[in-house]
Amino acid sequence: MQTQETSLQGKCLTCLGTGEVGSINGPVNCTDCDGTGRPPRRHLLTERRIREIETRFRSDATQAGIDVTWLAFELRRAREALMKILTMTGEPPLQGKTASQLWHTANNVLGVYEPEGLRGSDDKTPAE
Ligand SMILES: [Zn+2]
Repeated sequence: MQTQETSLQGKCLTCLGTGEVGSINGPVNCTDCDGTGRPPRRHLLTERRIREIETRFRSDATQAGIDVTWLAFELRRAREALMKILTMTGEPPLQGKTASQLWHTANNVLGVYEPEGLRGSDDKTPAE
């Protein structure tokens, strides 16, 4: 017997995995999962949140606004470096313990690959 909790596992909780939500004009793509029906990956949620914060402070000329803009820039730059490490260590020429540790460290921060896809396998395909 499948419980509601297990039947929703791996599905977007906004659209319940259908990829669509109702609107006054009929069904439209779910914006939380971009119509995939699966929960958005953490790295996409983080990027979306950084963009929201940047937008909120873009026209703020106070020191706080300037600081937030600088912090978002540095955060994005660090995340890009981690993404490069994730990409470089995920390629076949860099197999090995050190490459694996680098790959897992970068992925733990970015959240590009879901943990379920990593258990007991060497599958590095992003879960969608
Ligand atoms: Zn959805």
